[in-house]
Amino acid sequence: MPDLIGMHFGGPLLVHDPARCAGQRCCIHNPSDHLMRDWPQLWRDDRQLMERVCRHGAGHPDPDDLDYKRRTRGDEYAHYEGIHGCDGCCSGRCDG
Ligand SMILES: [Zn+2]
Ligand SMILES: [Zn+2]
Ligand SMILES: [Zn+2]
Repeated sequence: MPDLIGMHFGGPLLVHDPARCAGQRCCIHNPSDHLMRDWPQLWRDDRQLMERVCRHGAGHPDPDDLDYKRRTRGDEYAHYEGIHGCDGCCSGRCDG
């Protein structure tokens, strides 16, 4: 069952039951102190992936979402989830 509820641009969003990430990093319920934590979140329903949108409009996978997927699904799949068209912002390499 795909689970409850975080907020996404002010609207409700199906993510997972809060019990599944209790006490651990989670892009919705317990974001870690990463580079992108203040950026707007964008839920990619097509990929079932949480992204963070940089000021250039590029989407970067939320590291806490990847972390959650590594824990709950196994690392091989989560590794591919992290591949994205990147302008460098999520690793701090963007100077524009
Ligand atoms: Zn959570
Ligand atoms: Zn950027
Ligand atoms: Zn990126």
